[in-house]
Amino acid sequence: MKIISSPEKMKAFVAETKAQGKTVALVPTMGALHEGHLSLIDKAKSIADVVVVSVFVNPTQFGPNEDFDKYPRQLEEDASKCEARGAEAVFAPAVSDIYAPDASTYVVEEQISANLCGKSRPKHFRGVTTVVAILFNIVKPDFAVFGEKDAQQISVIKRMVRDLFMDVEIVSSPIVRDENGLALSSRNKYLDTVERVGAARVHRALLEGKRLSDEGCTNIDRIKALVINSVTNAKTRVIYVEIVDAETSLPVNEAIKGKTRISIAVWFGQTRLIDNILL
Ligand code: AMP
Repeated sequence: MKIISSPEKMKAFVAETKAQGKTVALVPTMGALHEGHLSLIDKAKSIADVVVVSVFVNPTQFGPNEDFDKYPRQLEEDASKCEARGAEAVFAPAVSDIYAPDASTYVVEEQISANLCGKSRPKHFRGVTTVVAILFNIVKPDFAVFGEKDAQQISVIKRMVRDLFMDVEIVSSPIVRDENGLALSSRNKYLDTVERVGAARVHRALLEGKRLSDEGCTNIDRIKALVINSVTNAKTRVIYVEIVDAETSLPVNEAIKGKTRISIAVWFGQTRLIDNILL
């Protein structure tokens, strides 16, 4: 497996791969890889000949008071996990390889990004769409695989790909959870042992909401109230609970119909967790 940091070398690797008639799938990550990320590699391997995993903690998607500096970085460990899982290359550029000091161009999706996480993290999705567009331009993947844990991110990226006629197929992959139901996340590293068990409340609250919906309730306010009540305790602060369209992630404000999901973001102590469940 190759570890590549230079965008030019990455382009050359992909050009060589494609010249052999092989397809390429990209798995974009910020590293600190866990089983959730690795399941995306499995998915990527099932649809393409060659899998490239990018590991890049992208500064433009963090707000000024967020955890960019303390975000876990462990490239060697990540690379061995990718190799064990059968990836052909890890693309791990430095910030200066991706952004010129005077970079002044962004990709902005304006509708989906304005909701849910976009409300409390105003420039987050601008950073995501920009870096994903840059990665697509460097790697030119046939497929890019994203996790449903970040369902709004997938909706935003699909919209960007559609609107800008990008030549890549976006593939989603299910949420991987630990034994308590907590969705795996690199940020779970910030939780201590007790908090980690407690954070499973988030998934349990979503299951409660789904149960109410499965019983036939289509009243959004009732479902949201149940989820909020189930998750709230001394350690949690709910940022949002929304019922959203499963494809676009846009909030549904009248009675539930069609394919929807419940999306949630909570502060659990000092850690911001997100999760969702399909209804
Ligand atoms: P991140 O490194 O957190 O930016 O995530 C990189 C990719 O991994 C994104 O597409 C995430 O949605 C996906 N991912 C993160 N956690 C999980 C999980 N628990 N299950 C499935 N995919 C995940």
